[in-house]
Amino acid sequence: MTSYWCERAWLGPGDIADGVIVIVEGSTISDVRRDQSAGSAHRLAGLTIPGFANCHSHAFHRALRGRTQRERGTFWTWRDAMYAVAGRLDPDSYHALALAAYQEMALAGITAVGEFHYLHHDVDGTPYAEPNAMGEALIDAARGAGLRIALLDACYLSSGFGRDPEGVQVRYSDGDADRWAERVSGLRAAGPDVVIGAAIHSVRAVPRDQLSTVGLALPDAPLHVHLSEQVAENDACLEAYGVTPTALLGEAGVVSPRLSAVHATHLAAADIALLGSAGCYADLCPTTERDLADGVGPARSLVDAGATLTLGTDSHAVVDMHEEMRAVELDERLRSERRGHFTADELIRAGTRDGHRSLGFGDEHGIAVGAWADLVTLNVASPRTAGTGRDAETAVFAATAADITSVVASGRRLDLDPARVGAQLGKAIDAVVTG
Ligand SMILES: [Zn+2]
Repeated sequence: MTSYWCERAWLGPGDIADGVIVIVEGSTISDVRRDQSAGSAHRLAGLTIPGFANCHSHAFHRALRGRTQRERGTFWTWRDAMYAVAGRLDPDSYHALALAAYQEMALAGITAVGEFHYLHHDVDGTPYAEPNAMGEALIDAARGAGLRIALLDACYLSSGFGRDPEGVQVRYSDGDADRWAERVSGLRAAGPDVVIGAAIHSVRAVPRDQLSTVGLALPDAPLHVHLSEQVAENDACLEAYGVTPTALLGEAGVVSPRLSAVHATHLAAADIALLGSAGCYADLCPTTERDLADGVGPARSLVDAGATLTLGTDSHAVVDMHEEMRAVELDERLRSERRGHFTADELIRAGTRDGHRSLGFGDEHGIAVGAWADLVTLNVASPRTAGTGRDAETAVFAATAADITSVVASGRRLDLDPARVGAQLGKAIDAVVTG
């Protein structure tokens, strides 16, 4: 049993308390008491909030930061660099890169990650002797960094509507959805800190007649899909099938409360209504959507329709959940030319509790009895946070990941040195990038 004393803590919307003792037994919180003195408890000075859930990650994209922005950073500089890295990774180098990337996430207060995993096979498309070697490397890396992981194994069968995989994409494809499901059935959760989930890479990458196979493979697990990230995907889907990507998923029977629609950027009114009425998660990745010039998703409309907002760092152009949270509101302001779409409390819920739920880590989350013991503490006296009120608005609109001073994840206090994590990132990226 370990006791923490939070000088100040965010306990839920509108509920900020001083002098909060949090008792941790194993990986969960067994008691929360307000108005306490520190006594012999570990002191957490500043503002403590729940751990973040990063619901959409491609760990290897971390190797692209700063590189895909060269020249003027076109779509082609991004895709060429991404394919080059994807072509070089093997289970060992992927483990090293993912471990360093997940340690960066841990430093940023992320306590669970949803890894949307599609780099499955050897460079020529041949399965590894252990068919899930790459997925297992990711699970080991997350656990090594102290994070819980939902490995969302993505089915990827075609490079476009009716087109076979090209180039490095042979590493992604299992041939058909049945063989994808057979491989995925070999993945086992090593403990409660691991969830095995499924993903449809996109409606481009899984043919219409195989969508339901992916949807049915892991019926109780999370299901994620890249959805309408760019207008071109909508246009191609309409041309191929005569319906929008969301409607196509609806016809296939995969739109349900298990589903996280990642990006959900370019949606028709009927798409928003379908995702909302089904109680889906809308998993926005605002910093990546900026970087890739995707557009701004209809976050408020989705939530008003009944969807639940979650957040991810996707390409890891930025790993800072404070920025993802405030970007939802700030980008909506730019799009609508109006202020006041989301409260800070709503955005913290999106970045924490709702994200963990979407990844299958249970309904209990937050600084509450029975929840995972995830405590992220912010310095409220930094040049960025000083004088901002030490409240939810501080966490969302003032702080950055650099203001995080302590992270407890699944009951373990993480001891990560930023300089050492930086060195590991540099080394792991150098090993898989040339030029
Ligand atoms: Zn993605």
